[in-house]
Amino acid sequence: MYSRLPLILCYHAVSSSWDSELAVAEEQLERQLSLLRGQGYVGLTFAGSERARLAGRLPKRSVVVTFDDGFASTLRARPVLDRAGFPGTVFVATDFVDSGDPLSFIGDAADSAPPDELAPLAWSELVELRDLGWEIGSHTATHPLLPKLGASELRSELERSRRAIEERLGSCDILAYPYGVADERVAAAAADARYLAACTLTGAHRIDEPFRRSRVGIYRGDSGLRARAKLSPVGQRLRRTALAERAEARRAGREMPILERE
Ligand SMILES: [Zn+2]
Repeated sequence: MYSRLPLILCYHAVSSSWDSELAVAEEQLERQLSLLRGQGYVGLTFAGSERARLAGRLPKRSVVVTFDDGFASTLRARPVLDRAGFPGTVFVATDFVDSGDPLSFIGDAADSAPPDELAPLAWSELVELRDLGWEIGSHTATHPLLPKLGASELRSELERSRRAIEERLGSCDILAYPYGVADERVAAAAADARYLAACTLTGAHRIDEPFRRSRVGIYRGDSGLRARAKLSPVGQRLRRTALAERAEARRAGREMPILERE
């Protein structure tokens, strides 16, 4: 089995003025990505990393920089990723794109947010990002908690969002589950909906599960040594070990899936 995996980072909004765990400042993002670049990481999109992995061509150190939800502020990451030489991957809740409706599904963080910070991306902006080599994936249509949905609603969320992106951007191969969670039924539905791969934000599962790739969530509080620990190869190995143990406990039925921060 080809066991090498990319480091997949999960960001949300990008803002130096919005004091929320969901918003990293540009300078913070810049420091984190230049740290990885200095360690020899090669940047890939999520589907790019899956394809490279299937072909046995995944670089020894590869990083996938993802942004969830489709905040308009994702555009602030563009020059930062350009400087690092990494492409971005953005997962959008398709009903919100172009709607002008605030991304209020983020929970308590929305209450204190300046209204501008909750603005969604537009399709024209996603086209620009795609043309720059970014990848656009589905974060479902309405951002529900998927394990709670019945079969037909689940299918509709996965298929409708994929079609919306295909119609506007030509293709949609990847998915990030809202709130980062997917049980086995949801992961199987993602495979049925013809995605190539999908990612969670919860602890990892089995070593090679393309429909439940785990990500490292990076938040505003992750600076200095804490960010360095999350981004270091040793920190990642420790994290994977802890996650594997947690997954093991879950398989043994001792623990329910943990709902992490959005
Ligand atoms: Zn989300």
